Amino acid sequence: MAQKIALITGITGQDGAYLAQLLLNKNYKVIGLNPRRSTSEVNLTRLEWLGIANDVELVDGDLTDLSSLIRIFQQYQPDEVYNLGAQSFVQTSWSQPLLTGQVSGIGAVNVLEAARLIKPDARCYQASTSEMFGLIQEPEQRETTPFYPRSPYAAAKLYAHWMSVNYRESFKLFSCSGILFNHESPLRGLEFVTRKVTDGVARIKMGLDNELRLGNIDAKRDWGHARDYVQAMWLMLQQDEADDYVIATGRTTTVRDMCRIAFEAVELEMDKHLIIDPRFFRPAEVDVLLGDPSKAKAKLGWQATTTLEEMITEMVEADLARLRKNA
Ligand code: NDP
Ligand code: GDP
Repeated sequence: MAQKIALITGITGQDGAYLAQLLLNKNYKVIGLNPRRSTSEVNLTRLEWLGIANDVELVDGDLTDLSSLIRIFQQYQPDEVYNLGAQSFVQTSWSQPLLTGQVSGIGAVNVLEAARLIKPDARCYQASTSEMFGLIQEPEQRETTPFYPRSPYAAAKLYAHWMSVNYRESFKLFSCSGILFNHESPLRGLEFVTRKVTDGVARIKMGLDNELRLGNIDAKRDWGHARDYVQAMWLMLQQDEADDYVIATGRTTTVRDMCRIAFEAVELEMDKHLIIDPRFFRPAEVDVLLGDPSKAKAKLGWQATTTLEEMITEMVEADLARLRKNA
């Protein structure tokens, strides 16, 4: 059988790196969209961490530039396309709402258009998000739960989500949306709360810092491990029919309790170091998210395998190791 070709946008991000690893292990040729940045070293950090930086082919292009996507689709004729590229940080979406819309919203439609025009039989994955549920309309969120986005990020992603559904219904594109709940790992960006906590705790343990400043620690999230979640992305594109799936663990935890797990992993007392800083409060908050992954379990045979405790411990240990290496 001919080697399959996968195009990943956002390959330098957390999920892009884990997905590239998964696809390489399945013998795919992996092409990564590489937007122009001033330092290539920074962008390769995650791929290098997984030891695969030399195994993927990076190609110049940007989600906001349809011409670059068309050229890439023409050149590589990808069998599978994973659109993971985004301005993905909720907080930043209030200070850069238009950029967020252009990259995370319009950018997704550029990918769908490139597929429709050049490779209409390509299987496309859209990285949708539990943030679309925002002000939750049901205590457990599933594929049928109405959306209520609470940030420019969530609104942009909701547009992309419905365009993915629309291209499936209008043009018979094999277009799937994974509505993924928060997922983390040692490769998570430092600005997100789990990694901010695990890095902060590691710094305190090493004597490099004494306090950790957070915003709303009453917020609750359904946190899973990115390594588990990229499996679900791939599984969606292997089905007979394109569809949308909620991917979650089915357990929700406060930021406070997640933080406590991190402190306990290094035998420190959270209350001695945690400071609430209003700078990290948001203009509108998503108070609680809890996913119901029943459909993914029934149809994809997928379920989360990593507990929050295991993941946070892994992240703290990875941050300790990084700090020791740089000491
Ligand atoms: P990251 O923020 O780690 O990665 C985002 C990626 O998008 C980076 O590779 C970034 O490149 C790239 N990118 C940014 N702007 C552009 C652009 N204009 N053109 C091309 N690429 C661009 O996100 P994650 O890996 O955590 O998430 C992957 C996807 O899943 C995102 O779409 C995110 O919104 C979505 N998602 C994530 C969840 C999570 O909990 N992690 C939950 C639900 C959905 P560079 O490195 O150069 O900046
Ligand atoms: P999000 O769910 O995509 O916004 O992921 P984040 O990891 O950025 O935030 C998860 C939750 O943690 C949100 O409800 C934030 O308000 C809350 N939170 C509390 N303190 C902080 C903080 O210092 N940084 C971040 N990023 N989030 C925080």
